[in-house]
Amino acid sequence: MKLCRFEAPGLGDPRVGVVLGAEIADVTETVAEALPAARWPLPPGDMLIAALGDLAPRLEAAEKGAPRVKRTAVRLLSPVANPGKVVAAPVNYAKHLDESRADKGINQGDEVRPIDKYRLFLKATSSVVGCDEGVEVRMPDRRTDHEVELALVIGRGGRDIAEGDALGHVAGWMIGLDMTIRGTEDRSYRKSLDTFTVLGPWLVTPDEFGPPAPKALSLNVGDEPRQAANTRDLIWPVEKIISVASHAYTLHPGDVILTGTPEGVGPVAPGDAIHAEIEGIGAMRVDVRA
Ligand code: MN
Repeated sequence: MKLCRFEAPGLGDPRVGVVLGAEIADVTETVAEALPAARWPLPPGDMLIAALGDLAPRLEAAEKGAPRVKRTAVRLLSPVANPGKVVAAPVNYAKHLDESRADKGINQGDEVRPIDKYRLFLKATSSVVGCDEGVEVRMPDRRTDHEVELALVIGRGGRDIAEGDALGHVAGWMIGLDMTIRGTEDRSYRKSLDTFTVLGPWLVTPDEFGPPAPKALSLNVGDEPRQAANTRDLIWPVEKIISVASHAYTLHPGDVILTGTPEGVGPVAPGDAIHAEIEGIGAMRVDVRA
């Protein structure tokens, strides 16, 4: 199943949809009936993602009679409304390690080390947007780069998760853009600006996505190919990232993990259109604005 969140003129609050080719079945009412009314204090994480395992069969049953809207008529939001945290992997492809060491535009001072040394970092959840919300260049005098990454959302939480159990904790898969200001400040600052974590276009459930590797991923800016790689070349595979993350932080439903970008990162400017694609998920266009 491909699950999305969207806005459309006249439909009110953000909607939940099941993507069926060029159309979206609006299953918002089924979700509203199934989820508890929000009362303070909320449980950690995202209540829809937490319930998705049980809810998926009901959504698939509901999609047949649900109202349909055209994909082109809606604005896609982040498939995860309330991520408790966004965990990200630095320098997790060998060729991106090489280019980061060689290119002074990427590495503006610090020694570049592989993921075994850096481990993981966190991005602000306020940076999360959907593909149709676009990216805002907020520091125009600085270099703002694209990074395409396989992204996942945790469905079943836990801590000290073994690598062999890790994929059982995943609720779904998305394309992620880890937008980045180049420079010497901490990653959590340079990568956490508003709109700097793009998730989309929708969430693909594990039964449909299959194993996270091998999967081709690519990114163009306009007609120019920039990144083209395969998740089989991840230094730390997805299972290890989840396991290591869960040894540091308890993972909750709705937590997002970005698995690292391959070689070919480069700058974007207002007016650019980013096209990102991952095998088994789909493709998304993300406009860059001032
Ligand atoms: Mn990244």
